[in-house]
Amino acid sequence: MKSNKTPGFETRMIHAGTQPEPVTGARQTPIFQNTSYVFHDADHAASLFNLQTFGFIYSRLTNPTVAALEERLASLEGGRGATCCASGHAAQILAFFALMGPGDRFIASNRLYGGSITQFGKTFKKFDWHVDFVDVDEPEAVRRALTDRTKAIFVESLANPGGVVSDLEALAAIAQDAGIPLIVDNTMATPYLCRPFEWGADLVVHSTTKFLSGNGTSVGGAVVDSGRFDWSRSGKFPGLAEPEPAYHGLSFYETFGDMAFTMQAHAVGLRDLGATMAPMNAFQTLLGSETLSLRMERHCANAKAVAEFLEAHPQVDWVSCAALPSSPYHALAQKYLPLGAGSVFTFGVKGGYEAGVKVVEACELFSHLANIGDTRSLILHPASTTHRQLTDEQREAAGAGPEVVRLSVGLETLNDLVADLDQALTAASRVAAAAD
Ligand SMILES: *Cc1c(COP(=O)(O)O)cnc(C)c1O
Repeated sequence: MKSNKTPGFETRMIHAGTQPEPVTGARQTPIFQNTSYVFHDADHAASLFNLQTFGFIYSRLTNPTVAALEERLASLEGGRGATCCASGHAAQILAFFALMGPGDRFIASNRLYGGSITQFGKTFKKFDWHVDFVDVDEPEAVRRALTDRTKAIFVESLANPGGVVSDLEALAAIAQDAGIPLIVDNTMATPYLCRPFEWGADLVVHSTTKFLSGNGTSVGGAVVDSGRFDWSRSGKFPGLAEPEPAYHGLSFYETFGDMAFTMQAHAVGLRDLGATMAPMNAFQTLLGSETLSLRMERHCANAKAVAEFLEAHPQVDWVSCAALPSSPYHALAQKYLPLGAGSVFTFGVKGGYEAGVKVVEACELFSHLANIGDTRSLILHPASTTHRQLTDEQREAAGAGPEVVRLSVGLETLNDLVADLDQALTAASRVAAAAD
């Protein structure tokens, strides 16, 4: 693109990171289903291994199809660089791997995707990394939880499953005062609806499995770096600022500046953790990202209409959807998600656990499965599935109590979606009546 003006979001969604393949002219990005790359000569090989030349060595570190997706995601988020990896959970490990040492802590929202609560609270302990879960609606509670060993604050822009919106600007200010990065999981919003870097976030993580790929074909993840964080100022981030013995004492921050995090995440993170994205998954996600804005518009419109239908339904106790004026997060949604509040939200069905299970089982068009962000409409009962491993208290805090049903509203005809939920709620009312 010749002009200096940054192209619009939709243009970048289709063109960023990709160009006609130089050898064949192939217009769509080829799937480089390939593990390794021939060196020009011994000097070229040495300079690649020393990180002195950019190029491809081995697909655990970098691959041309994956690199195209990385550049596209960095562009869509307005960041400096991105690192794709095997899943959203791998992205979370990769993000913290660069920041944390044994005994370090981070603060995370107590309303996160259930899998993240388990990963942070249980598995991260094995690395001697410790999480303090906090109600991030209270900025003072976040400040109080800060310690000398706190290395980051982690929130979801739009939380899964609850229709909860984080006050990114306020949280970024706290992180900045503390000299630590704000990490935002932007999976549910996608960069079309929310760009956390514009509000002061430093790193964005994604499960590309969801809306970015969009068709339910490919598990993947990404860490995107704003390139703005000063990794050397506080002395808290030796992995980025201090000499790296495996690369002859190179400091990533000194050598690569605003690309330090992205270089470290490839050269150390992917090298040693090995949670690489497969080229085929990168291709599927590139393809999905080309229609992101169109899909998100329809997702948001359908979801809002379904939420309004449910809110008026006699069998429904409450609806937690930030698109509705009744939501306590409506004002935050208007600020951070002006184009729409996403398509994943929860509602409480009358009749508790049994009725919740019945609604899910009675749906015919909504698929009962554990995913979000598909073109198809999806339904789930978190208490019996994704949030099953949590305590009752954690489930309540995460907005996944016994009566809670989660929807990921897809792109089908709205009337068909409403009709399906209506008949499922009628079936659930019979279960609730029988239990009385
Ligand atoms: C699904 C999800 C994850 C985990 O991603 P995977 O690709 O399943 O590993 C993390 N955060 C949120 C908000 C998610 O929805």
